[in-house]
Amino acid sequence: MSDQKVDINVLMGSLKTEYKTIEAMVKIYCRDHHGTGTLCEACADFLAYALTKLDRCPYGEEKPTCKLCPIHCYKADYKERSRIIMRYSGPKMLYHHPILAIRHLIAGKKPVPVKPTPNASNRHKRKSRSQ
Ligand SMILES: [Zn+2]
Repeated sequence: MSDQKVDINVLMGSLKTEYKTIEAMVKIYCRDHHGTGTLCEACADFLAYALTKLDRCPYGEEKPTCKLCPIHCYKADYKERSRIIMRYSGPKMLYHHPILAIRHLIAGKKPVPVKPTPNASNRHKRKSRSQ
């Protein structure tokens, strides 16, 4: 796992929180299923993919939780992995990471924006800021 192009620190606000939530769920899943002590290569790859998707999400910080999102941006195999990981780790989050879990539950109550605001993605914002 070498060329992870996006670093968690580029994510802004709620996107960073969402990444931490996904990361926590992947860690729980990997620990219980792959048991390597650290993240296995497949799970690290999944996380890198999730990070890129968060960075590019056209909703940016207005992003609804993935479950409610009308845009299905994950490729089929990643989507399937995500479903398996969330199903396993979701219920355990309240115990291991109550604050992240509750934030995610609250985020899930927000209305889904009809359409993304133009140029709202994290990627667009950080590119236009660094020029
Ligand atoms: Zn794993």
